[in-house]
Amino acid sequence: MTSPTQSLKPVRVRFAPSPTGRLHLGGARTALYNYLLARQTGGQFILRLEDTDRKRYQPETEKEIVDGLHWLGIDWDEGFDRGGPFGPYRQSERKDIYLEYAHQLIDSGHAYFCFCSPERLQTLRQAQLEKKQQIHYDGTCRDIPLEKSRARAAAGERHVIRFKMPREGSIKVKDALREEIIIDNRTLDDSILVKSDGLALYHLAVVVDDHLMKITHVFRGSEWLSTFPLHGHIYQAFGWEQPVWVHPSVFLKPSGKGKMSKRDTAQLMKDGQSIFITDMADLGYLPEAVVNWIALMGWSYDDQMEFFTMNDLIEKFSIEKLNPSPAAISFSKLDHFNGLHIRNLALDDLTKRLKPFFQKAGYTVDDERLQEITPLLQIRLKTLDEAPEKAGFFFKEEVKPRPDELIGEKMTAVESAMAAQRVFEVLKELLDISPQTIEEPLRNLADELHLQTGQLFGILRVAVTGQKVSTPLFESMAIIGRTNVLKRLQQAVQILETL
Ligand code: GLU
Repeated sequence: MTSPTQSLKPVRVRFAPSPTGRLHLGGARTALYNYLLARQTGGQFILRLEDTDRKRYQPETEKEIVDGLHWLGIDWDEGFDRGGPFGPYRQSERKDIYLEYAHQLIDSGHAYFCFCSPERLQTLRQAQLEKKQQIHYDGTCRDIPLEKSRARAAAGERHVIRFKMPREGSIKVKDALREEIIIDNRTLDDSILVKSDGLALYHLAVVVDDHLMKITHVFRGSEWLSTFPLHGHIYQAFGWEQPVWVHPSVFLKPSGKGKMSKRDTAQLMKDGQSIFITDMADLGYLPEAVVNWIALMGWSYDDQMEFFTMNDLIEKFSIEKLNPSPAAISFSKLDHFNGLHIRNLALDDLTKRLKPFFQKAGYTVDDERLQEITPLLQIRLKTLDEAPEKAGFFFKEEVKPRPDELIGEKMTAVESAMAAQRVFEVLKELLDISPQTIEEPLRNLADELHLQTGQLFGILRVAVTGQKVSTPLFESMAIIGRTNVLKRLQQAVQILETL
């Protein structure tokens, strides 16, 4: 099946984060969709920094954005960190460009200087609130003759530049995911384009940048739908062709009830989860899984296929299959995808990725041993950070089982000591303790002792691994080695006998 986007000409797309917060799942998904379309069509992907909001600016988030995208495997062709033919790509360095275009709008009658003081605007706002009216600029400065207002501005009077919204008619804007939106212009405000400090606001900056950078498709979150008509107006005022607009829906909290709030985010982190990309690695997620997961939060290929590598996504992604309904964040789905991608890794690769988790848990890792245990982990892990808990004992010289855990289910300490002693004797007779060799004699022993295999193997597991949950018992024993297994069984007998 060929998707319509596959016949697209090379696109120019951009991810335009504001360095006001950490890179989260929503931003990452927007970046991903951009990247996929750029790579699919042989176009360019641009990373533009929208840093005009100096009050909320957090410099450290710039690096976080770059690191987060790289971790996901997303790269770009032009950007604030590397330049390119349409730079600068940092909005704070484009102040003069926006001013020039704002003046162009003033000259053509689509914008005007506004000298109203913040106090006056505050009073106006208050009055409108009291009368339960829509908050609107009342147009006081709208009709000041241009020569006059220009002279006042040139004389240094404090001013902003506002868009002169038509007072009649309506505007149609169209997003690729939704029906046309038609808005009566009288419901729209004379929005500020340039603040009194001369810095452009998003609405002007985004239009100017997307035009000058020759952006063909704009992917941005659905929170921008409300100002979408204003952007349509600004394009019309300039007489510029609009890009294809795509507004994927924002994510809902895991319960599906509303958007994630700061408080939800904090609670999630307390519970050991996170919506921030640079936390995902530490939580034991593979970038491949995160990419697969977020790609499907708002897009599907068909109703069946769920496992996608980045290359699959590049091949199969299409705007037509994006879904405008909001998706709830599901961490159980992420675990599911993580499991699938863990199982898809080559053993060497998985071994390399597991190593830091053991080291972080305080183990000195023997590479050969890790190589041996990786296959046992690969079929079971949901997240990489579960590995030390399940298999850290492989790197211990000795294990120290808890005496109470050595007691078999529904058994006494004496019975358990005896059972452990019998296991010891059976294994001692065997020269090799590979799973194939030991399984039958141990099952026979359970029968002979009138024990369930679960009871017997439970004791054995705690004795040789020091824990109740571990990698598969027989395979683990083979790796631990005959000598150590026998030593640990003796130790277990001794512990049990002192109880
Ligand atoms: N800077 C905006 C944000 O971070 C981006 C909106 C856009 O992509 O146009 O939400």
